[in-house]
Amino acid sequence: MHDAVVVGGGPAGCFFGKLLAERGFNVAILEEHAEIGRPMCCAGIVGAGDIERFGIKSDALVLDKLRRAVVHPPSGEPVEIGRGRTEAVVIDRGEFDRKLAEEAIRAGAELFLRTRCIGVTLEKDGASVDAKSEGKRVKLRAKLVVGADGPTSVVGRRTGLLKSPTEAIKCAQAEIVADIAPGTAEIYLGSGVAPGFFAWAVPAGDACRVGLGTTEGNVREKLLRLLKSRLVSGKVKSRNMIHFTAGIIPESGRRRICGERVLLVGDAAGQVKPLTGGGIYLGLSCAQLAADVATRALEHGPEGRILKEYEDAVKERFGKEFELGTVMRRIFRRMSDKDLDVILKLLSKPDIKELVIKHADFDKHAELLSILIKKGPGLLAKFGARKLAEYLRRMFKSYTRPIPRAKA
Ligand SMILES: Cc1cc2nc3c(=O)[nH]c(=O)nc-3n(C[C@H](O)[C@H](O)[C@H](O)COP(=O)(O)OP(=O)(O)OC[C@H]3O[C@@H](n4cnc5c(N)ncnc54)[C@H](O)[C@@H]3O)c2cc1C
Repeated sequence: MHDAVVVGGGPAGCFFGKLLAERGFNVAILEEHAEIGRPMCCAGIVGAGDIERFGIKSDALVLDKLRRAVVHPPSGEPVEIGRGRTEAVVIDRGEFDRKLAEEAIRAGAELFLRTRCIGVTLEKDGASVDAKSEGKRVKLRAKLVVGADGPTSVVGRRTGLLKSPTEAIKCAQAEIVADIAPGTAEIYLGSGVAPGFFAWAVPAGDACRVGLGTTEGNVREKLLRLLKSRLVSGKVKSRNMIHFTAGIIPESGRRRICGERVLLVGDAAGQVKPLTGGGIYLGLSCAQLAADVATRALEHGPEGRILKEYEDAVKERFGKEFELGTVMRRIFRRMSDKDLDVILKLLSKPDIKELVIKHADFDKHAELLSILIKKGPGLLAKFGARKLAEYLRRMFKSYTRPIPRAKA
């Protein structure tokens, strides 16, 4: 019997597997694909210094250092935001995943490729994981099962933690040859481009990644339209794509992330930044918290009570980020193109720009968001955007109203 079977050989699963194997536990990682890191559907943007925080050397992985964002409103002039320093880096995401898998194996984890989990049964004294490997049925037993199998997690659904269908942002991304200025992330907003989310273009070494997320319609068609649009077409050197992929980002929200003998990490647990969908930093951070709790559970018996500490640890460390980010995400989804135009225009006002520059952090959005909740409507009113200020005031109030205490 394994101490832990991890389903999914993405960053969250491999990092969790590595940490547990390093502590002497017997870990198996199952990955349905024939290779780690492929197919890859990710812009690969992570905060500067994030990768090193997890003990991973980034030198060979960094394809570009981002110092500024140029945000294109639905109509009107683009706005540049930056502080003259590297805020984030674009990494070779496939290589990053392979590096994490290599480290997990080095630490002693077993990696089973082409092995797709098709079922999980939680039992009194362990758990059974049913899988298909090269056409054959295999069964693994473990004290603990970890679902690191992405937004539609089979482990989550089969153990009842995840109710389907889950809300998600549909995404598509192309790697193309284009002239995106080094150090610059281009962001495109508006219902004509990416309703419900946004589109992006970033330099990634010799190529560029142009991608789009949306909550409505056909994402592939929208991306092809963006590539032909006046926003991007002038920068595109060739319509030929080096790489095209589609994927989904889970709407980060309230998901149950642990139960008796089972934990979810990464996208499977909805651990993405609500506003941007970035999940690499959060996935690895939460995998670390999960590994600490799993270690205690395996040492003292995998009781639900111990695993519940994982939920508490995630809440304590990232609860505010998820909560405020989700409020802002809901408000963003309801904003009209006109609202977005007004907000972007006001970003060039010194008072507002200063506020953003002072409190913005690539990974931690809660500080800026709580300041915006407090001061945003007042600032908008000061610059004449009274209707929008009133709308935001109402929205903030309805979303941040404290939950009444239950009667004793
Ligand atoms: C278009 C796009 C762009 C993005 N850009 C960024 C970005 O710039 N920065 C950022 O931080 N995040 C970004 N993200 C999000 C990021 O990619 C994810 O948050 C991250 O990959 C989550 O890692 P994970 O290990 O939880 O899941 P995944 O990376 O999805 O890995 C899950 C693994 O499980 C395997 N699997 C699934 N089901 C099974 C099964 N039944 N049996 C066995 N194996 C299985 C899959 O093959 C996969 O390898 C982007 C996402 C998309 C879609």
